[in-house]
Parts: sequence; structure tokens; C-alpha cells
Amino acid sequence: MNYALITGASRGIGAAIARRLASPRLGIIINYHSNSTAAESVARECREKGAEVSLLQFDVASEQAVDSALEQWEAEHPEDNISVVVNNAGIRSDNLMIFMNYDQWRSVIDTTLNGFFFVTRRVLKSMLTRRNGRIINVASLSGLKGLPGQANYSAAKAALIGATKALAQEVGPRKVTVNAVAPGFIESDMTADLDQSQLRKMVPLNRFGKAEEVADLVAFLASDSAAYITGETISINGGLY
Ligand code: NAP
Repeated sequence: MNYALITGASRGIGAAIARRLASPRLGIIINYHSNSTAAESVARECREKGAEVSLLQFDVASEQAVDSALEQWEAEHPEDNISVVVNNAGIRSDNLMIFMNYDQWRSVIDTTLNGFFFVTRRVLKSMLTRRNGRIINVASLSGLKGLPGQANYSAAKAALIGATKALAQEVGPRKVTVNAVAPGFIESDMTADLDQSQLRKMVPLNRFGKAEEVADLVAFLASDSAAYITGETISINGGLY
């Protein structure tokens, strides 16, 4: 059985991706950091769609935690493979650069960029051997244009886009594709503190996006229909730039 590993799948965009990908033909590995109740409820919804589900708690920013969780999963699933990885786990810790402390800088880079590195490196070997894989990275509009108050977040997401382009060239000959999606404002816990009524005026489509809309795009990139797309960053932002 092939599985899709989605990091940060207990809430928001990651949870929507897990629900969207879940099927009797594709198992789901739900990674989360600390919110086990939310993760279990996503797992239930995925099982209702006929999918096999594994719940894996680990901090994507910890090399040791990533390695030991995935080693254990592989040992318990000798007949199964991870054919799709969605690097979605991410945090915000906004501040103007002049007030930003090192912890705010480091935690955001650690989660988005080091998380991508630890998780992807761990599953890559098996994808390359089997000549089959889809790696999808959840970047952000912030990583394309930069947003004030988000030097840490913009840097992490821009670096993720750079790594997407580099890795796509490395693994293309083995039929593994690597792409990024760059959402604008999407309704989730991460944006719950933002004033939607004001900010949506900046968006040509005049609303925030839904996690399910990002999930549809990720599902397309994970599908056979996207076999000839790699190294791309696809925006999903209602026309905002
Ligand atoms: P969210 O609602 O805050 O959910 C974040 C998810 O990431 C949760 O499942 C959380 O797990 C998990 N997570 C956080 N740190 C983690 C860690 N160290 N290890 C493992 N899991 C971790 O965020 P969201 O809005 O869905 O965002 C998902 C992704 O989309 C992020 O990469 C974000 O940067 C990106 N994005 C979001 C927007 C937006 O407008 N919402 C726009 C552009 C890009 P717990 O539940 O256990 O805490």
C-alpha cells in the first residue's frame, strides 16, 4: 500500500490535505506536534473515507525525532511505502526585524526549512529506489514577495522554494517530482488573529481562501495527471500579490 505523509495534519491546511488525499488506495500518515485530540479526529475522518491511517507525533524540527518516528513506522509497515510527502508543518512568529529575537528567527526557520530537510531526506531514498514519488512543499506568498513583520517567515519560505527547485533537478531522472504551493491568506488557526474584513479588500477575489482549496491543488500535484510538472511553485492567493 502506498501512503501519503502529511506534516502538520492535525489542523488547518494539513488536515484538509489529509482528508482530501485519503482513499482506499492511498493510506495517510498524519503527523502533528502536540494536538493529539485534533489529530485523532482527522484520522477518524480519513478512515471514514476508507483509508488506512497512521498517527505519528513528532517535531519536524528535530532530526532525531523525525528519524526515529519514521524508522519505527517503516519497521511496522514492511510491505508499505511512502509515495507522497507534503511538507506542510509551519509556524508564524511575526515581529519587525528590529524587535525580533533570535528564538523567533530560529523557531520559524527550524520548523519550515529544517523540517522539510529532515523529513524529505528520510523518505527520499525509498522514492528514488522505487522510481516513484511526489514531494509537495507548502510555501507562501510571503516567500515570493516578502511581507513586513515576517523576515523570518519570508526567509524560510523563500528558502523552501529554492530547495524545491534544486531538489526537483536532482531527483527528476528517477521520476520523483518536487513542487511547492504558495498560498495567500487562507482561513485557519494561523490567520485567526488577522482582520479578515480589512485584509480581504487587498485580495482581487475579495475573500480569504479555504484550506480545502489548497488541498485540491495539492491533490492535483500528487496525482498522475501532474507527472510532467516539477520544480514549480504554484500560487493560490485569490489574485493577491
Ligand atoms: P495551523 O492551522 O496553525 O496548523 C499548523 C499545523 O502544523 C498544526 O497541525 C501543527 O500541529 C503543525 N505543526 C506546527 N509546528 C510543528 C512541528 N514543529 N512539528 C510538527 N507539526 C507542527 O496552520 P495552517 O494555516 O494550516 O498552515 C499550514 C501551512 O501553510 C504552514 O506551513 C503555513 O506556513 C502555510 N501557509 C498558511 C497560510 C495561511 O494563510 N493560513 C498562508 C500561506 C502559507 P499541532 O496541531 O500539533 O500544533
